[in-house]
Parts: sequence; C-alpha cells; structure tokens
Amino acid sequence: MSAAPVAYRCPDLLVGGRWRPATGEGRREIVDPADGRVLDMLRLAGAADLDEALRTADAAFQAWRAVPAHERCARLERGVARIRADVERIATLLTLEQGKPLAEARAECLMAADLVKWYAEEARRAYGRIVPARAPGSRMDVHKLPVGPVAAFAPWNFPLVLSARKLGGALAAGCSIVLKGAEETPAALAAFVDALAQELPAGVVQLVYGEPAQVSATLIASPVIRKVSFTGSVPVGRALAQLAGQHLKRITLELGGHAPAIVCADADLDRVVPLLAQHKFRNAGQACLAPTRFLVARPLLGRFVDAFDAAARGLRLGHGLDGATTMGPLANARRQAAVRDLIARSRQAGARVLAGDAPVDGCFVAPTLLVEPPADTPALHEEPFGPVACIQPFDTVDEAIALANRSDYGLAGYLYTDSARTIHTVSQRLEVGALAVNGIGVSVPEAPFGGCKDSGHGSESGIEGLEAFHDTRFMHYSA
Ligand code: NAD
Repeated sequence: MSAAPVAYRCPDLLVGGRWRPATGEGRREIVDPADGRVLDMLRLAGAADLDEALRTADAAFQAWRAVPAHERCARLERGVARIRADVERIATLLTLEQGKPLAEARAECLMAADLVKWYAEEARRAYGRIVPARAPGSRMDVHKLPVGPVAAFAPWNFPLVLSARKLGGALAAGCSIVLKGAEETPAALAAFVDALAQELPAGVVQLVYGEPAQVSATLIASPVIRKVSFTGSVPVGRALAQLAGQHLKRITLELGGHAPAIVCADADLDRVVPLLAQHKFRNAGQACLAPTRFLVARPLLGRFVDAFDAAARGLRLGHGLDGATTMGPLANARRQAAVRDLIARSRQAGARVLAGDAPVDGCFVAPTLLVEPPADTPALHEEPFGPVACIQPFDTVDEAIALANRSDYGLAGYLYTDSARTIHTVSQRLEVGALAVNGIGVSVPEAPFGGCKDSGHGSESGIEGLEAFHDTRFMHYSA
C-alpha cells in the first residue's frame, strides 16, 4: 500500500444545517470491493430526515437566492480550495469504497473541484438581456433567476464528478440542493460536500443516503423541489422522469452510453491503441463515456486486436491503494456478477473472447475483448459498464456509421482519421451528444455534456449546465 492510512468511517447525514446521525431503520454495509472487507455500516435516512431536509432546503433557498453572484462565487471558490487541500484524504476514501486506483481517485477529486470552480465563475456571467422596446418609453428585459430547491441523485462510479456537476450548477445559480449520494460510496462524497458546506450558509447544501426509491419519491413529490437531476441507469431514469412528469418538475437525465470508437484505415495504431485502451479500462470500464464498441477498418483488424489485447493484458489488477495497480475491481459484487453474465451470454452468442487473468478475491473481472461479435450479441446492445470491449470490422464509412448508430444509446463517440471528408460525414450523421476526433476528451467543465436517444435529457456542465438551474423571466416596463 502506498497511500497514507486513512480511517474509514461512514458519514452521518448533512441535514438541517448540521451533520447528524440518520434516524431511519435501514442500514447498509460498505465494503472494500478489492478484498471484500466490511469498512463500516451506513445508516439510512428515514421519513423525518427527508422532511427536515425539505423544510431546510425551502428556507435556505430564500436566503441563498438573495446572495449576490459575486459572493456565491467567492464562497464556492473557498470551498474548492478546501477540497484541493484535502485531496489525498478524499481520494483515499474514494479508493477504499469504490475500488479505483488512487491516481484515478485523485484525478476525479480535482476534476470535481474544477467543475464547481467553473460553475462558480460562470455564475458571475449569468447575464440576462435587453430586448428592443416596441413602444416609446417602455423597456423589455430578460432575467435569469434560480429555479428553486433542487433534488439531485448521483451514482457510485464517479461519485465526486457526477455530484459536482449538480452541486456546482445548483449552488452557483443560487439554488439550494438536497443531494442523494450513492449508498455504495458515501464517505468520499461526504468529505467533498463538507468542504463546500463549511463556506456556505447552513442548509444550502444537504446530503442524504437512504433507500433510493423512497428518497426520490419523497423529494420529487414535494412542492418544495423545483428541479430534479439524475445520473444513473435508463430504467431508474425512466421511473424518475415519470415521477417528475406527474409533478411537473424540470428534470435533467444522464443515463449512460455505449460509445462507438471508429478507427479508420489511415489511423496510426501506435498512437490510437494505447489512448483507447487507457480510456476503455479507466475505472475498470465503469464510465458512461467509455468507448465500448470498437469499429475498426477491416485491413487494420488483426493488428488492432493484437495490440489492444496486449495493452489489456499489460494492466496490473489489484487494490487501488497499491501504487503499482493500473486497474481496480468493479465497484461491487452486483456489478461483477452482471459483467460476468454479459460476457458469458456474449460468448454463447458467438463472440470470440480474449481475456487475461484476474485476482480471485474481490470484485475483479479481467479486461475482456469480444472480437467480431454477431449482430445479436448482448454486449453490443446492453451497456457493458465494465472492462469489456467489443471489436467489429467495417468496410466503408457508411457501414461504420450504421453500426455505430445501431444502439439505443447516444452519449459519446470517438473517431480516428485524418480525412476531413470522413470527419465531416461522421460528425453530420453520428447520433451522439459528444464526439472526440483523434483524442478522447468529451467531458470538460466548460462544455456541455449530455446525450441523445436513451442516454438522457438535457446537458450538464458548460453554460447549458448552469442554464438548467435557471428560470427565465421576461419583464416589460411601460412608460
Ligand atoms: P441502478 O440503476 O440500480 O443504480 C444506479 C444509481 O441510481 C445508484 O447510485 C442508485 O443508488 C441510484 N438509484 C437506484 N434506484 C433509484 C431510485 N429509485 N431513485 C433514485 N436513485 C436511484 O444501477 P446499478 O446496478 O448501480 O448499475 C446498473 C447500470 O446503471 C450500469 O450498468 C450502468 O448502465 C448504469 N449506470 C450509469 C451511470 C452513469 O454514469 N450514467 C452510473 C451508474 C450506473
């Protein structure tokens, strides 16, 4: 182990402006997925906790919306400084409960801090506009106002970054927020939120853990909540969208992806394969933007498979706190079982399976290549959310685009070619919310991130992400 020891303790709830134990009956074991060790027991919120969170969010919103954007920004920036100063501890907690290598956990924490900082800065530029008047002496303005208290739900794969997209936007816009973190990974997010909360008026940010369906049903149905933001799976996204629709709440959804990576015949495999392999196996493949369907020009297929397989076998699987580890376990036993099952069903469907070894203990799954899978192979259609790469050949760019679009998802896409014509054609026709050309960058704080088709609804980050926490008001002054 190369990190300094950090004592793991499950957090209380941050409700009503203070950290205090949950009063619900529910408990949940928090397990280190690398070795199965029970780290601690998480106490879950009960109905009274959620009622208090809602009352507090309502009152805190009235105060926070009146704080000028400059001060909101300054407070959030001080919170960001606290996070950065505490990055080693937060990252170690994240590795213990989620499994990712410490270097990745550090990078996630700093990226999450950057997200909050960017939103904070952008809040100072949330301009309205003046519309040319129709009548002498009259004036017409458009104002941006905070939408109101937010209920946000974040998952366990990137608990900090995916929460920061919601926390940063809501708080910068002047909204209060009740965040339900993922029960699987509660401690790192609690440390992150605590650093922010120390710089904010009490109650503006609250953090709860509970029975997910109970928490979302209670918060979304409450008249206090004006905006819902969820990142997670398609089935849960659908359920929350229904609830939001029933109560006419605005909702932003980020529901995963099954990203195509199109490798054209002119691609430089010596550069592209290491880049794609690193991107594929980051966080053991548990990333919505990870490339999952590799579409390779037929003449390159053999070389691509050999090089990708070598890169996959070169990964060192182990505990994330071991400095030599380059890929950790899956985040929990449920995911390990699901990915193993997907691989088994895909093998049965006729895919050629190439895989190395994985440690026997813990929730590990070896990096696995599914080569030339038949069209009905389950892994081509279900989001793998694990270290699984489907590799298919194509003969023409039209065929690559058709294969890439043969998915219900439409989040990220990747393209490798120097042909301006191919870049133009693919960018016109690929059904994705973000396209990286000759690189892997599809998510930065200053640009919108969101998908089409089943991948979601609306965008986070960028000015679009801030806009999602604003209401627009038209004001007409007559002479
Ligand atoms: P899941 O749908 O059971 O849970 C995903 C997250 O949603 C968890 O953090 C969970 O606490 C939360 N959740 C579940 N039910 C909820 C509810 N009724 N209200 C509010 N929150 C709720 O999925 P899982 O088994 O954890 O993962 C399965 C799949 O989900 C993955 O294979 C992947 O496709 C998808 N997923 C996507 C992302 C993403 O970044 N878009 C993140 C995590 C999981």
